[in-house]
Amino acid sequence: MSTPALSALDAIADELKQSDQILFALDYDGTLAPIAPQPELAAFPSPARQVVEWLSQLPGVHVAIVSGRALEDVKARVALPLIYAGNHGLELEGPDFAYRHPQALERTPELTEAILAINHDISGLAGVRLENKGLTASVHFRNAAPEAAQAVASILKRHRPSGFRLHAGKKVIELRPDVDWHKGAAVCWIMDNCFHHTRAFAMGDDLTDEDMYISLPEQITVCVAEHRATHARYRVNDVDEALELLRFCGGVIAAHRGAGQGQRPR
Ligand SMILES: [Mg+2]
Repeated sequence: MSTPALSALDAIADELKQSDQILFALDYDGTLAPIAPQPELAAFPSPARQVVEWLSQLPGVHVAIVSGRALEDVKARVALPLIYAGNHGLELEGPDFAYRHPQALERTPELTEAILAINHDISGLAGVRLENKGLTASVHFRNAAPEAAQAVASILKRHRPSGFRLHAGKKVIELRPDVDWHKGAAVCWIMDNCFHHTRAFAMGDDLTDEDMYISLPEQITVCVAEHRATHARYRVNDVDEALELLRFCGGVIAAHRGAGQGQRPR
């Protein structure tokens, strides 16, 4: 059972003070940016950008944006010098490292072939759109009639190449390589390879973010969702509360490290 984070600020502050290094692993859509009717319209709101930039500049703080979007897509939207994990962590990039999951990379020819066939079959479905994300593909139906969901599922089942899995998300079905890797594995990889003795704060809104909470049971994990069972220890209701929590965490860290709060965004 998760605890409302904004009712547990003292406990969260105590946890933040336990380590000199903190990695914030933050999902983008539905966590930092409100869900948009079309994914390409999900802009990074200015207040969230200011808070994330401020956090990333605090001493001992590292910020990773961990998204289901293609790495280049989320990086262009956020446009800050941070760590990025795209395609649910299959591709990672930081100031001095880059990683792409080797088995996912090997399977791109099969994916490309499947994309051609899927695009052909969805062409008659109004409001349905395929997004090619390089190592994965997503078929979005947020703007389609409700019955389109079933049609999209059938088309994807028909064209799913071997070695790939289907994942249902919020008005989207994704085709992903069936490799033992997810957002949680990616965050652990970043912690193991880039930082030592780091505490993590992981926050996201979708089912794929549960892998982060399960992989980081001792860390500060926050689910952005009003009603849903979650493995996260804490919960906030929406993107506004998520931002309020990040602002609070930054304030605690700044005060604890004597960094001052002169640049604290409102
Ligand atoms: Mg999300």
